[in-house]
Amino acid sequence: MTLPRDLYVGFTGSPLDRAEPARHDADALAALAGNPAALLLDMQDYLPLTADGALGWKPLPSLPPEELLLLGLIDGIPRFARIDPEAVAARRWAELMTVLDSLSPGEGGTYAAARSVLDWHARHRFCANCGAKTAPHHAGWGRLCPQCGTEHYPRTDPVVIMLAEYEDRVLVGRQPGFAPGRYSALAGFVEVGESIEEAVARELREEAGVVATGVDYVASQPWPFPSQLMIACIAEVAMDAVTLDMAELEDAKWVDRAEVEAALRGDEDAVFGAPPRYAIANSLFRAWLARS
Ligand SMILES: [Zn+2]
Repeated sequence: MTLPRDLYVGFTGSPLDRAEPARHDADALAALAGNPAALLLDMQDYLPLTADGALGWKPLPSLPPEELLLLGLIDGIPRFARIDPEAVAARRWAELMTVLDSLSPGEGGTYAAARSVLDWHARHRFCANCGAKTAPHHAGWGRLCPQCGTEHYPRTDPVVIMLAEYEDRVLVGRQPGFAPGRYSALAGFVEVGESIEEAVARELREEAGVVATGVDYVASQPWPFPSQLMIACIAEVAMDAVTLDMAELEDAKWVDRAEVEAALRGDEDAVFGAPPRYAIANSLFRAWLARS
């Protein structure tokens, strides 16, 4: 399929050079942390402190190595975030959503990486193999069990998010927790032992009772709540009769191009409210409209 070259996808395009070799080289890591220009991502309880759509940074204070998360280099300057040994798992606040709306996608990408790794540390303090307390290693990109030697790494959970398409209309659904009027693409976790295409077909069948006859990949995005990889697809379906799984969706409906355009513009009389710009569902609607 033909996609717009300038398709905006939130949380992508970070300027970070992740400097991966330094994660395994204590001397290189110490040199980066000792660089007088090194910077620490300015966050308060996972909330980024921002100005004019950009993340805030402050001089890197002296921290023990196990509290250093090496994000990488931006403009040749080492960038770190702090692994707080006392941190608890992250939550989502309305305030954060407002901040994310203001961030450029590249800045959102840097934040997404930092947030997901820091949140992972807070949620994974103990070894899944033997139960002992683990400690950060590899410059914060893993944890090591001192008792059994098992290494643990941040995980990414794949989620498919898709528009079912039938005769130039797409299916949008509404979950009970959505903001009033909001509809979005259907979505679900990829299960163990499934391909992306199979997950798309299964989710559409389970949630809406529609049968996919073809699946096109569109784009992907990291989603740091807490650490998904969203895989956006468009699926042709065999017919437009819908059978809703009311445990997942409280409503679903077919919308045409004019209705999607009105929703993306935020028109007051639009038949549904579009997802926010940083969510790939928004990009997916734009990609569908641009599809030739
Ligand atoms: Zn262990």
